[in-house]
Amino acid sequence: MIKLSWPPSRIRIRYVIQSNAPRRFLTVPGTVPGHRNPNRPSSTSQRSNYDDYALRELFDSREFWQNFCHKPKVGSKRGLLQNVHLTEPKGFVNYAQLTVARCQKIVEYVLSASSTEEYIALPRKLDLLSDTLCRFLDTADFVHATHPDVRFQDAATQTYTYLFQYMNVLNTTPGLDAQLKKAVGTAEVAGAWSEVEKTVAQILLKDFAQSAISLPEHERKRFVNLSSEVKRLGSEFVEDMRPRKSHIDLNASQLNGIEPLLLKNHKTVRNHFSLPTVGDAPYAALGSVHDEQVRKAIYLAGRQCRKGQIQKLEKLMKTRAEIASLSGYKSYANMSLSDKLAKTPEAVHSFLTALSADNAPTVKQELARMGELKVQDSNPPEVRPWDILYYRNRLDTKVHSKSRKPDFMAAYFSLGTVMQGLSRLFTHLYGIRFVPRETTLGETWNADVRRIDVVHETEGHVAVLYCDLFARAGKTPNPTHFTLRCSRLISSSEMAETNGSADEVNDGMAMSAPSPTGQYHQLPIIALVCDFAQRASQPSPALLTFQDVKTLFHEMGHAIHSILGRTSLQIVSGTRCPTDFAELPSVLMEYFASDASVLALFARHWETDVPLPYEMVENALQMHRRGQGLQRENQILFSLLDQAYHSSLPLTMDDGFDSTKVFFDIYDKYGSVREPRDTDAQGLFGHLVEYGGTYYSYLFDRAIAGKVWKEVFRGGKDGGGVDREAGERYKEEVLKWGGSRSGWACISGVLGDETLRDGGKRAMEEVGRWGVHD
Ligand SMILES: [Zn+2]
Repeated sequence: MIKLSWPPSRIRIRYVIQSNAPRRFLTVPGTVPGHRNPNRPSSTSQRSNYDDYALRELFDSREFWQNFCHKPKVGSKRGLLQNVHLTEPKGFVNYAQLTVARCQKIVEYVLSASSTEEYIALPRKLDLLSDTLCRFLDTADFVHATHPDVRFQDAATQTYTYLFQYMNVLNTTPGLDAQLKKAVGTAEVAGAWSEVEKTVAQILLKDFAQSAISLPEHERKRFVNLSSEVKRLGSEFVEDMRPRKSHIDLNASQLNGIEPLLLKNHKTVRNHFSLPTVGDAPYAALGSVHDEQVRKAIYLAGRQCRKGQIQKLEKLMKTRAEIASLSGYKSYANMSLSDKLAKTPEAVHSFLTALSADNAPTVKQELARMGELKVQDSNPPEVRPWDILYYRNRLDTKVHSKSRKPDFMAAYFSLGTVMQGLSRLFTHLYGIRFVPRETTLGETWNADVRRIDVVHETEGHVAVLYCDLFARAGKTPNPTHFTLRCSRLISSSEMAETNGSADEVNDGMAMSAPSPTGQYHQLPIIALVCDFAQRASQPSPALLTFQDVKTLFHEMGHAIHSILGRTSLQIVSGTRCPTDFAELPSVLMEYFASDASVLALFARHWETDVPLPYEMVENALQMHRRGQGLQRENQILFSLLDQAYHSSLPLTMDDGFDSTKVFFDIYDKYGSVREPRDTDAQGLFGHLVEYGGTYYSYLFDRAIAGKVWKEVFRGGKDGGGVDREAGERYKEEVLKWGGSRSGWACISGVLGDETLRDGGKRAMEEVGRWGVHD
């Protein structure tokens, strides 16, 4: 999962230029003398060996961590994430006021710009305005979600709401839009812009247009009302997203086949169980209960939504369609796809149908094998939806009758070993490594958060990574990557303006060392939040399952995009690219997690130091692939449904919009397994709210990642997974651009395929034909 920096707050500031102001020495966090581990050796190669060793110990050895974090803290209290304004909860209030004051100054500059020089500065000014807002909003949003101290949470939430409203006002200020339009329309001005500035100007114009900024007053009012209606309906829909029945009552003989331990919390009276309809228990039951009628009952209960859900959904889709039509688009999907790689719903449809055709033979094969097993159970061979998990597991047992537990691989994946492996992999591919770093007083939000500095072999310190990886009460179970501050170039005029004070220019947070030309980068600040179990009573370190390893690699794929996507303007840095391109770097990392040469870099038994036998991975992958065709088909069907619901249908369907009819039309036309009519599963798909016409993105990025892995990293053959040349090519063509280059140019560049450069319907179809094979 990715937590994107707020796309709507793209606006931003910059101070009046004082080019001759004296420059004070800039304090760069991370280069402060004395802020260094005294045990760390001094020569470069010894140092990197020590850092490599320390990285593993940092996460695996309690003793090492205690010594490391109990060293006396250096320097004065700097505040959360080293932000000088956030030393205590009420700091959020001052910081919010300061942010608004900074923003106002930029807004005034933009509104009163009149000379060519001032117009030329507009993309940079607006980017700074956006950065100023994002710095605040991203931090506040993160603190609200993650900080264990309720006082910090409350302060963050209140000020967040205030700033968010302020941002909405800016996004609908016609003067900002008009000034930018004027700049874009003046040849002398636009001709002086760099490529990045041109891109940013276009992105901002589009954002303004999607806020209905140029509509007449009464229509703009209607737009605002419809938008809040969408927000309200969306939250209500998600809130009520539970099956109609919460439990099903069953007796022990009906549940024959299920692992008894799974039922121990659901017992009512002797031999009777109340099985919940969501969560692990029904999933396990569908995969193991022998009685087909019982599986059917469990399946149906899990696909029937609560009363009122369907009406809410249909109202939501109609309201979205009205918003799109008010903004001059044919449908909501047309609107939301206009700034994605796909561009149009027709292109998405081409992609999905091509992918479906590529997937069909696999599905057919899987169903045939399941059908054979079903006949042996003296049942009719037709595979129904409630049979799929059950017979997939049966096929697994047939192949792996002796060793069915992939989790014993965990002994080879201590958390420290995996972090060490990620650092080693990035060194091989991109010449960067992780360096454990002591924190200053008040810098982290919880005592077990580790700070890692990301260091490039020639460019030095390039990013800060806070790792909050251990489970604790009240913490979100979803692994998430947060960009708390984006990368950007701090202009020399901005430095001069603030007399070179890092506290002024960057709230005291991490900045790069000066480049040979005296320029500074605002460094990306990233937080990775996971919930790996730390066993307090056992001497062993936190051990990850193979799935956990893939998850950590996935999240680190987002992080590396933020780290290497160092653009001069923040609006397009790192992961701030179109949604249907954002999962490419993360999904690609999952291939690395399964590769033999990559695993050979680190996977060793935590106790014996024996390397992981690769056959274990091969077995796990083989098991994972079983039933993948059907799973993929589900995602394709859901993507098609997401497209249909966000088409013009909600406003044009004869006899009114009927989401259930649309659902079955799609499932009947493209599905291979007949969905029972007495379900209304669309009322339980929260992603419809979240994605709004872009759910295909995940499949789309998987298809591209598979191709990049195969073509650029040679599918891992001959050490392709650790090849520097391949890494550099991928970095140069994809990662370093963030969102400042068209995604199609990135794909065509890295694959060396010119036919893809301009994207479009045919390119989308081509990606569909590559298929998703992992
Ligand atoms: Zn992701």
